[in-house]
Amino acid sequence: MKCTRCREPAEIHLRAHNSAFCRECFVFFFRRRVQKAVERTGMFEGCSRILVAVSGGKDSLALWDVLAEAGHTTVGYHLALGIGSYSDHSLETTRRFASERGFELHVDSLAEEGLAVPDMMRATRRPACAACGTAKRHHFDTAALHLGCDAIATGHNLDDEAARLLGNVLHWQMDHLARQRPIMQPTHEKFVRKVKPLYLTSELETATYAFMRGIDYVVDECPNAVGATQLTYKAMLDRLESASPGTKLSFVRDFLERGVDAFAAREGGSAGTSCQQCGMPSYGLLCSFCSLREAVARKAASAAATSAGTARAHDS
Ligand code: AMP
Ligand code: ZN
Repeated sequence: MKCTRCREPAEIHLRAHNSAFCRECFVFFFRRRVQKAVERTGMFEGCSRILVAVSGGKDSLALWDVLAEAGHTTVGYHLALGIGSYSDHSLETTRRFASERGFELHVDSLAEEGLAVPDMMRATRRPACAACGTAKRHHFDTAALHLGCDAIATGHNLDDEAARLLGNVLHWQMDHLARQRPIMQPTHEKFVRKVKPLYLTSELETATYAFMRGIDYVVDECPNAVGATQLTYKAMLDRLESASPGTKLSFVRDFLERGVDAFAAREGGSAGTSCQQCGMPSYGLLCSFCSLREAVARKAASAAATSAGTARAHDS
């Protein structure tokens, strides 16, 4: 097969785009697609410093590479989640990527805050991904504020967005549908805009880009994600995509062009007040992250009281 652009031998065939590319032309194609998505949505208009949330996976590292190559001023941010060796490897990979390129990277650690994901899971009995999502949102928001960034960019790709859209449609999550956009404007002065520059590039494309750019990334899925519904939706969408290439792209793109505005009137209002503990926007006395932190602290205190009681019973 020949490269659609230069007629040299192709290395990758993209059925969704009915195209094939050699290495050099694929890198060009990928960057141009991201650039177009950025321009079409005005994602970075008025932004001078972008916080790139980097997990160490292919998407966020590819995103950081593309944004930096395009000349944006970026600051990397990694949240170490405390999920055993998976998290250690993610941090190491992210650090290496940043230092090899001389990129600015900031790291926070949930374990150092006494809030490693397994501890949050035990304390709340909520699924790990719910607690983890709350912690990530809070840390991304506060990091952007403290590091003087005016946008938070995440590596969510087309497959993520299509799976999320399918889930939202299957359960008619009207409020979530209203908010499922590649650019979310801030609802409070302490928040900044949140953007997803890779929302139209597939997992296959970001993985290929990372590989062709020689980016070393964490291949393993988060151990807590095993069995997550999102993965079932992705598998279903993969089947549809293989029967009819381009399905994911048209599902997401056409929803944004023709569907999302029908839900927009339902978009939630802004957070009304400030969290008493951390000062970030909140709907009640405490923001959802600080409520989570309180729950973990309560659990730890009751566990300590129980073990002290057991020790006394043994002594007597
Ligand atoms: P996920 O929620 O794991 O699918 O990740 C979606 C996006 O969130 C990634 O592409 C990153 O931009 C960001 N992200 C996920 N985990 C982390 C992390 N531990 N630290 C920083 N950013 C992250
Ligand atoms: Zn708070």
